[in-house]
Amino acid sequence: MKQVVIATKNKGKAKDFEALFGPLGYEVVTMFEVAPEMEIEETGTTFEENAILKAEALAKALGTIVIADDSGLAVDALNGEPGVYSARYAGDHDDEANMVKLLENLQGVEDSKRTARFCCCIAIAGPDFDTTTVFGTCEGVIGHEKRGSNGFGYDPIFFVPSLDRMMAELTPEQKGAISHRGNAIRKLKEKLPNLIK
Ligand code: IMP
Repeated sequence: MKQVVIATKNKGKAKDFEALFGPLGYEVVTMFEVAPEMEIEETGTTFEENAILKAEALAKALGTIVIADDSGLAVDALNGEPGVYSARYAGDHDDEANMVKLLENLQGVEDSKRTARFCCCIAIAGPDFDTTTVFGTCEGVIGHEKRGSNGFGYDPIFFVPSLDRMMAELTPEQKGAISHRGNAIRKLKEKLPNLIK
């Protein structure tokens, strides 16, 4: 069976991609299974640079089709911060500390100026085609306190106006239908027939 490798050790992310590639006859495997020892440093300054960097490094090492995504939160009042540094905004990868830091940095900022978006860039690289990227976003507003217990990262403080809920109050299906990652995956799905046969 042909393989697509997802450049992540996160099995949750791999599941989203399985739904896309399974019906096309591809087995989806993660770095965890095929290159557990490999560490790819995210040295880019944009989501796109980091996604390409990860996809191409692994595709070159393995000679297979590789998909990588890079995502994060861009807050308008903070000039797009934390952006590509979302995972380590408050130091080590600590969702709780990241949210506390973000809320502190937005203290005194009125609701109309707390606009933000989640961004996700997906890169696909392989031996038989040029590396291609797709981009998905999800618009929202940063709240004043945490609400909801689903999801991860900044979800408890990200208000989704179209659903009148915090992202962390949505079911995985509701989140997938409007999220940055869901939107990027849907764009990838449209482009796929032109890339892989
Ligand atoms: P990465 O793409 O796995 O490097 O994720 C970067 C960081 O962005 C995560 O650690 C989260 O802090 C944040 N992030 C990305 N996507 C989401 C999301 O769907 N909800 C909440 N936070 C997210």
